Amino acid sequence: APAPPPARHLFSDPAEVEALRRNLLAWYDRCKRDLPWRTLAATELDADRRGYAVWVSEIMLQQTQVATVIHYYNRWMQKWPTLQALAQASLEEVNELWAGLGYYSRGKRLQEAARKVVSELAGRMPRTAEDLQKLLPGVGRYTAGAIASISYGQATGVVDGNVIRVLCRLRCIGADSSSPAVIDRLWDMANVLVDRSRPGDFNQALMELGATVCVPKSPLCRECPVKQHCQAWRRKLFGKAPPVPDVEDCGVGDCPLCPPATEPWDSSLGVTNFPRKAAKKPPRVMRTATCVLERRGCHGAPEYLIVQRPSSGLLAGLWEFPSLPLAQDLQEEKEREELADHLQAWMGQPVAAKGLQFIGEVIHIFSHIHQTYVVYSLYLDGDVTLDPALSPSRWVTEDEFHASAVSTAMKKV
Ligand code: SF4
Repeated sequence: APAPPPARHLFSDPAEVEALRRNLLAWYDRCKRDLPWRTLAATELDADRRGYAVWVSEIMLQQTQVATVIHYYNRWMQKWPTLQALAQASLEEVNELWAGLGYYSRGKRLQEAARKVVSELAGRMPRTAEDLQKLLPGVGRYTAGAIASISYGQATGVVDGNVIRVLCRLRCIGADSSSPAVIDRLWDMANVLVDRSRPGDFNQALMELGATVCVPKSPLCRECPVKQHCQAWRRKLFGKAPPVPDVEDCGVGDCPLCPPATEPWDSSLGVTNFPRKAAKKPPRVMRTATCVLERRGCHGAPEYLIVQRPSSGLLAGLWEFPSLPLAQDLQEEKEREELADHLQAWMGQPVAAKGLQFIGEVIHIFSHIHQTYVVYSLYLDGDVTLDPALSPSRWVTEDEFHASAVSTAMKKV
């Protein structure tokens, strides 16, 4: 078994833990942001509805800013106020409402899990973090802990990006914060710290602190309600040679939680020495040719062809202009020819590469892909019969396009 971490990285003094809880909760009561899912979780008497509301908000908040989520959350809860309503929705409706929020598989999995609760669990949400994680597809350790503590009062901790930052600073944890060894320690710590009588508020307070005070670049340490418990802050105040023993490095050189000896404390960074992460892999670079096919619709307004992506993989099930991934370093002429061949398959009639009009390039960054869309347009005169054996496709007006389940990247195109 690995050796336990040195005491300076732990919260081992019960009096300190109690004081930290008190200070953090008092701050939260004074300063918390009004967010629609918090209001609902605090006022809704039905436990399943509370769980559902927190679940929807937590899934939307993964990888997405609070300010963006509010609008989507309100629309979602208006359309599907209960698990039962969501279970009856079609995937197409879910994708339409999710359009623009990114990471589309989240919406799909939420809906699949709602169906499972209705069909296999008699419409009753599991009540503990362990069961939530075990029984609901798409619900990981963090989401399960958030739902169980906020909706059902289970005294269980949570660890998300904000909590990682706060805890690493509170306890000067400078080893790679994405490594399983550090993540496991942070979960242990979150479970020790969580307030037994107000676990949901405590977890939200810790995350709120990370989102509004202990922010990545310029944390507001002077206003921080837990600064007296923060070793990074003390170390910044006392400089490189700390006068008290508990803020020194562990000193043995093989501490699993201290910064690596090759990258010691940088006094110009202050508390932002923590957390530290191993360098990210650079994103994959991709080029995709895409063609906006236009025709005059029966009412005279222009219409555009959109086709549906496969039901798995990136942007699964969303609609897009006919598109074709390109090999790197293709000559422009070759790109056109390949796109023309691709379009020919859709339309069942020859497409002249020269007829494709180059419009420009659109760059869109997915989390792990740097995508460049090379955009062409083609105006079609006369009727076109689309091959029904290919993926689903349809003609839409501009308004219909915007109301469809299309990605932000396609809207840019
Ligand atoms: Fe974060 Fe500064 Fe507060 Fe420490 S004192 S928890 S670094 S905001």
